Amino acid sequence: MGVLILGAGLCGLSAAHHLQKDWTILEKNLKVGGLAGSDRVKGFTFDKTGHLLHMHHPYTKGWLIENLLKDKLLHLKRDSWIFSNGVFTRYPYQANTFGLPPKVVRECLVAFLQARDRGLKPVKDPSFERWCLQTFGKGISRYFMLPYNSKLWRIDLKKMTTEWIRDFVPIPSREEVLYGALTDQKKFFGYNATFFYPKEGGIQGLPDAMAAGLNQSRLFLNTQAIEIHWERREVAASDGRSYPYDWLISTIPLHELLEKMRPRIPERLDRARGEALKYTVVYNLNLGLSNPKPTDKHWVYFPENKFRFYRIGISSNFAPALALPGTSSYYCEFSRRKDESFDEKGMFDHVISMVRELGWMRPVDEVVVARWLRIAPAYVIYTKKRRKFLPEAFEFLERQNIISTGRYGAWKYSFMEEAVLDGKAAAERVLAAGHATPVL
Ligand SMILES: Cc1cc2nc3c(=O)[nH]c(=O)nc-3n(C[C@H](O)[C@H](O)[C@H](O)COP(=O)(O)OP(=O)(O)OC[C@H]3O[C@@H](n4cnc5c(N)ncnc54)[C@H](O)[C@@H]3O)c2cc1C
Repeated sequence: MGVLILGAGLCGLSAAHHLQKDWTILEKNLKVGGLAGSDRVKGFTFDKTGHLLHMHHPYTKGWLIENLLKDKLLHLKRDSWIFSNGVFTRYPYQANTFGLPPKVVRECLVAFLQARDRGLKPVKDPSFERWCLQTFGKGISRYFMLPYNSKLWRIDLKKMTTEWIRDFVPIPSREEVLYGALTDQKKFFGYNATFFYPKEGGIQGLPDAMAAGLNQSRLFLNTQAIEIHWERREVAASDGRSYPYDWLISTIPLHELLEKMRPRIPERLDRARGEALKYTVVYNLNLGLSNPKPTDKHWVYFPENKFRFYRIGISSNFAPALALPGTSSYYCEFSRRKDESFDEKGMFDHVISMVRELGWMRPVDEVVVARWLRIAPAYVIYTKKRRKFLPEAFEFLERQNIISTGRYGAWKYSFMEEAVLDGKAAAERVLAAGHATPVL
């Protein structure tokens, strides 16, 4: 069997691990890990924004946490917050309005109770905006859900669908919302209440450990797939070689895979793909500051427009070894559409002034290191066009023995554990199909 895997992110590495033999990986970068990778800059270790390991599935917990990384990990309780109306409140906003100005709490509570009184009868295929108003009421929607998500997704929320919310937007009960308005409720909500994180070296430790168990001679780094000759089942790569395959497991972004297909994909799909496959770009500013531990928080969401970023995380609070002794490190995330420009210098000044205003940087403190990172695609945008396009595209690809999977291959909002499970599932499908031609 000859299986060619495009991409050595978590999904591609997991596919190779589960295939065990007769696989080849092409990875365009110089190291494995993809988005779950880390870079070392002037003694600081920076992930590609925050990358925290949330584990739910016994299989991945057993393999990755108990077996592969074991005592190299810290297990932490999430300490995440929202900053709005001049105060910090606990995540998620909808269950923790305690501490906000009384007028805001009243507006959130009254509208939430009215919405609940109307009932959660599902509107057929609501937009995200309509879903928020129906589920949380006007107050919570106005102060958090709509401004925060507009900042993150950069599209009209009336045009966005709701398939993605599953684990990502907690829906508290009536009692929890009331209790969280009256008291500093410490109950954990959502899919990421606790997380694992490597003690040293950032999240790169995970893909590195996965890759260490693989046959290195079949892992081609610095080798980019350039063209997919799908009729003759061969990939032309940047090293000048052609890689034949029986099955292609592609974990590269779906829009890039489709662009690389030679001959071109059927005209109808080719015409539809631009509108169907929209995404945001994240501009991430990593900072190392000379002051140690200005706060215990792990990360904070910023719904208000005064703050141009949507989230700041304090990475040295996940693992102190990420920063130099006596310093602290951060990631600040801004979102843009792919056609929007971004003013790095202006936004750097903005971050520094806001970090000072939050009290995390005193006048004597200095920026030890700063680096920008552009992540594209970052979040795929859920629309009706995406929903219609994907099954047709996957059906066409699978007829050519191509499985497009992982966060960007499947064109979805998902986390690291899911990428690992996606790679496993792809390998199992190929093994079940059974194949015999080795990749050269
Ligand atoms: C801002 C942000 C924050 C996140 N935070 C978290 C978090 O806290 N916790 C969590 O669990 N998940 C988080 N995620 C999600 C997580 O990063 C992904 O789910 C996971 O890393 C996806 O792995 P993958 O292998 O599917 O894709 P990728 O990591 O994108 O891997 C694809 C690989 O393909 C390679 N490639 C691309 N094109 C080519 C080509 N032409 N030829 C060869 N190789 C190519 C790339 O270099 C890359 O290595 C976050 C994502 C983002 C955007």
